[in-house]
Amino acid sequence: MIISKNPYTGKEITKHEEAGEKEVDKAIDKAHSRFKSWRETTFAERSKLMKAAAKELKDNAREYGETITAEMGKPITQAIAEIEKCAWVCEYYAENAESHLARETIETDAKKTYVSYEPMGVVLAVMPWNFPFWQVFRFAAPALMAGNIGILKHASNVMLSAKNIQKVFERAGFPKDCFQTLAIGSKKVEYILRNKKVKAVTLTGSKPAGSSVASIAGDEIKKSVLELGGSNALVVFKDANIAESVKTCVQARYQNTGQSCIAGKRLLLHKDIAEEFLKEFTQQVKDLKTGDPMNEDTFIGVMAKENLAEELEKQVKDSVAKGAKISLGGKRDGAYFEPTIITGAKAGMPVFDEETFGPVISVTEFQEDQEAVDMVNSSDFGLGVSIFTEDDDFAMKLVPKFEDGAVFVNELVKSDPRLPFGGTKISGYGRELSKHGIQEFTNRKTVYFN
Ligand code: NAP
Repeated sequence: MIISKNPYTGKEITKHEEAGEKEVDKAIDKAHSRFKSWRETTFAERSKLMKAAAKELKDNAREYGETITAEMGKPITQAIAEIEKCAWVCEYYAENAESHLARETIETDAKKTYVSYEPMGVVLAVMPWNFPFWQVFRFAAPALMAGNIGILKHASNVMLSAKNIQKVFERAGFPKDCFQTLAIGSKKVEYILRNKKVKAVTLTGSKPAGSSVASIAGDEIKKSVLELGGSNALVVFKDANIAESVKTCVQARYQNTGQSCIAGKRLLLHKDIAEEFLKEFTQQVKDLKTGDPMNEDTFIGVMAKENLAEELEKQVKDSVAKGAKISLGGKRDGAYFEPTIITGAKAGMPVFDEETFGPVISVTEFQEDQEAVDMVNSSDFGLGVSIFTEDDDFAMKLVPKFEDGAVFVNELVKSDPRLPFGGTKISGYGRELSKHGIQEFTNRKTVYFN
């Protein structure tokens, strides 16, 4: 049985019977058979449906948002914003898929040579609960526009949202089985991946999940894209605009109650501005409104599951035992975790070395610019880094020094349909969004006319 439970009230929302192997086989067969006709549709036909999906999302943003809030505790205004962002990615690919996948002519000594981007078939998506709609739509919109078919195995705690996503595509008028949600636990993922009709997999989630799915995909020689965890640094250099960078860093760490892969989790401050920055930063974190996630003015809700809050508490306690100091917050009550600031963080402490998936920031000071670069790169993760400086030339020189998948200057790391998104090192491989994302699940076919 798969259970959705409200982490704020503790009440059960729904129970879903887990699909058995026969049901899974049937769903894959239907998906495979739909692929044969879906791949023949034109971009104009797909685009019309994708625009209808965007409209369905916008028209019902509150209803879908409320389910997100109920299932995983995201404050309602952020849940509605998430639905609106999904409408954006649908519109973006409705407008751009055709040009992203346009035939690419290459001059050779042949009469004609080109690359044609063709769909692969049924793609499995294994997705996390932290952005229950967005993580799925940033895969589904390009995949469907490219002519692929999607099968979703969503996180077990957001199964109602998962079913709502299938509903969005159905209401938009997509042919049946273009996108299906399966109510299954993680143990069935291998069974699906071993099916010959499933051609590829994308997973957004933790390293253990990514590693397991990538091993199976590797064994089957199937394409995989992995979007895994992160421990992004926010590096504030001494010439930074303090007022602006404080505001951005607060958002970077505490939105979605800190449960974002690309959140800025490690704050690296130049010694000369550290005191001034921290004073203002602490005040703004104190001012964040906590409370019932269904209230419009709540900014910090509860964490999605109590066990995740317990894990975070352990990371904080272990770091304190190693010499870090709690300068704000630090306490947990069920799934609620106070917005927290930990100072004196350094390598060897969980808040510095590991991903902290909740409203906790670690603070470390540096003297030399190279020291900051080394601290950023010392992480096993490589999703992104934000640097704050008023000197663009200095920033440009720093960019190649970072090992991450993204560098944002004077801005928090964020996903945008127009820009590629993805990590390096244990943050994963492959890219989502933009033309890079839509091309991931295509056969880049070489065509040669002599
Ligand atoms: P998770 O435990 O890895 O779960 C993610 C998905 O994988 C869920 O659907 C889960 O199913 C499934 N899963 C778990 N173990 C699996 C296994 N061994 N084999 C196959 N599937 C498995 O991650 P989470 O706790 O939901 O999400 C938090 C993590 O996701 C963080 O590390 C975060 O940084 C990362 N994340 C990364 C990105 C990115 O874009 N890079 C975005 C968001 C989140 P069940 O729920 O049924 O266990």
